[in-house]
Amino acid sequence: MGRICFGTTLRSIKRMYSSRTGLFAQLLVAAALTMPAPLYAEDRMITDKELSDESNTADWLAYGRTHSEQRFSPLKDINVDNVGKLKPEWYLDLPDKNDMVGTPLVVDGVLYYVGTLNVIRAIDARTGKMLWEYDPKVAKEITDNNMRKVFWSYSRGLSAYNDKLYVATWDGRIVAINRKDGKEVWQTRTFPHDTPLNITGHVKAFDGKVFVGNGGTELGPTRGYVTAYDAETGKQLWRFFIVPGNPADGFEDEAQEMAAKTWTGKWWEHGGGGNAWHGWTYDKEFNQLIFGTGNGSPWNRKVRSPGGGDNLFLCSVVAVDANTGKYKWHVQTAPGDTWDYNSNMDIVLADLKIDGKNVKAAMHAPKNGFFYVIDRSNGKVLSAEKFADVNWSTKFDLEKQTHIIPESAWFNDGEENIYPSVFGAHSWHAMSYNPELGLAFIPTNHMSNTFTDKGKDTDTSWRGNKFQLGIAVGLAPMASDPHEARGSLQAWDPVKNKRVWQVNQKSAWGAGTLATAGNLVFQGLPEGKLKAYDARDGKVVWEYDAGLAISAPPITYKLDGKQMVALLIGPGGALTSNFAGGGWDAFGWKYGLHQRRLIAFSLDGKAVVPPQPAPQIAKPIIDKEFKIDDAKAAAGAGTYAVHLCIACHGGGAAAGIMAPDLRESPHLLHGGEETFKDIVRGGALLGKGMPRFPTLTDEELEGIRHYIRKQAVEGATPAGH
Ligand code: CA
Repeated sequence: MGRICFGTTLRSIKRMYSSRTGLFAQLLVAAALTMPAPLYAEDRMITDKELSDESNTADWLAYGRTHSEQRFSPLKDINVDNVGKLKPEWYLDLPDKNDMVGTPLVVDGVLYYVGTLNVIRAIDARTGKMLWEYDPKVAKEITDNNMRKVFWSYSRGLSAYNDKLYVATWDGRIVAINRKDGKEVWQTRTFPHDTPLNITGHVKAFDGKVFVGNGGTELGPTRGYVTAYDAETGKQLWRFFIVPGNPADGFEDEAQEMAAKTWTGKWWEHGGGGNAWHGWTYDKEFNQLIFGTGNGSPWNRKVRSPGGGDNLFLCSVVAVDANTGKYKWHVQTAPGDTWDYNSNMDIVLADLKIDGKNVKAAMHAPKNGFFYVIDRSNGKVLSAEKFADVNWSTKFDLEKQTHIIPESAWFNDGEENIYPSVFGAHSWHAMSYNPELGLAFIPTNHMSNTFTDKGKDTDTSWRGNKFQLGIAVGLAPMASDPHEARGSLQAWDPVKNKRVWQVNQKSAWGAGTLATAGNLVFQGLPEGKLKAYDARDGKVVWEYDAGLAISAPPITYKLDGKQMVALLIGPGGALTSNFAGGGWDAFGWKYGLHQRRLIAFSLDGKAVVPPQPAPQIAKPIIDKEFKIDDAKAAAGAGTYAVHLCIACHGGGAAAGIMAPDLRESPHLLHGGEETFKDIVRGGALLGKGMPRFPTLTDEELEGIRHYIRKQAVEGATPAGH
């Protein structure tokens, strides 16, 4: 009723008259073919044809705009010559107090985005007016089921298919809602309540299916997998396991049997990991789903697979048949991974001409610092060159199709400073590709970590139901690369295998990029600026001061003859929690103070966006009534780190904007014990994204309180800007 699309109408008319002959019937069909299509927003069915159409500039239909994941728009109304005139067309203040990392979609003049705790909002893409909201009630699901959810309440995006939108929730559900009114159609669970997994990636919709992976490798003995469901019903269609299970239980398929040959010891007791939390692409031309896989569980191979081995399919790009989930090919980007080098980064499809030959390529710049060009017809690596300082691998040997890894990378002698860091030379921040210029734009981090085995080589305490980080390796604080700025945006030529230009940035964690035919690359930065670069040489041609860190990538679309550029303003992701200090740039972005926003820009924009409060560095409270016990504070430091308080409340308890700075919190002062217990153990603030930690003892909670008070007195005060 009211949801008949043009295609369906035609098909039913053809069916109706297929058995008849005669002029009348033919005329009716002809009339139906020439009638203007009544494509109202509610009637539109998004198909793979549309999702593959690079020429549609009215919408932004998929996470990476189209199935190619290029994030390149042929729009050039806004271009290098006039971008200086770009101004806010509209803005919307967002009540969310947390991570802004998502790519919005635009369908028929409606912009959809997913925010904190996976709430979806529909916004009028012309005016910024909110139309409706859908809340999957994530906090309730977690509380009702006593789930272990430690971090990442955000989602990086949505998918649109037929008349529906799809989202994956933090707690592990795939939800389909009606695109017109946000009414739920179905939901299904992709992992059991009692597993420590989470989902931050978008659901990938394609060919009547929706696909999703999961994350959480560090939080328990998990075995990663990806799953495809029927887009209309939510019924599971296929599942592919990323690492093999216990051989005694039998293997699910031949791929598992092959993978098991690359593992040693009793890896299955550790789960193995490999979780696919981001980076998946539907390759229509070869009817394959290509996805990236994560690091091992635990990180340290000496614990996970003590006799060595490549440990397939950790840190790999894997292609499976889109209909069946059957293995087709793989490229392992970090054999035997010990360094948290996920290959969960974007996989971008392009037609390249290499050595005179046309290549159907998949491009991939994972954490490990190598830019891969893969022939996606067979999984052969055509080139893999370093795009940042790298010392874990000497080179990728094209002949052997694998990395040459020096002994030092395994830190057998104790400790070793290894590039890139565990945050990667490139993480989930979107890479874009301009096919007209033949350039990929990579948000790059230039950092290292010192890895050590000391006291960790037999440590398996990460296992079990403890809400604890478990990686079986020690990490010294991260260091900046002495040869490069801490962060950069670079343009990479995938045919010549080299960097064409690079712009240095003072901070790592630059946001995802958008490329346009106007010879522009747009990128937001942790320092609060949205910049447009000349895609040919990296020159800054426009910038906008958003007054708050940016982590989400921009999109572009055209309505009523007007090109718009829109994005979510606000920080997000793992490094964000340290933007207040702890060795990181102190930008003064403060939880609860600075306004998250959605802003759309146009060349004749006239919206006046209220200024943000000035940056504010935390002022730790010195509580004279609280008598600090050094031993308790030392124990508390360990609890704070191992239970991942650090992930949101910051290194050294100097919080970035993801969560309050605990040194200023009233709940950690003298007399705040009971409230503190209610929050941490009882989950009183779960609705704001603060997880609950029911296993923490009174003693451990008390230790954290002493640690925070000690940090308030002695901790590093960020330098400020
Ligand atoms: Ca990881």
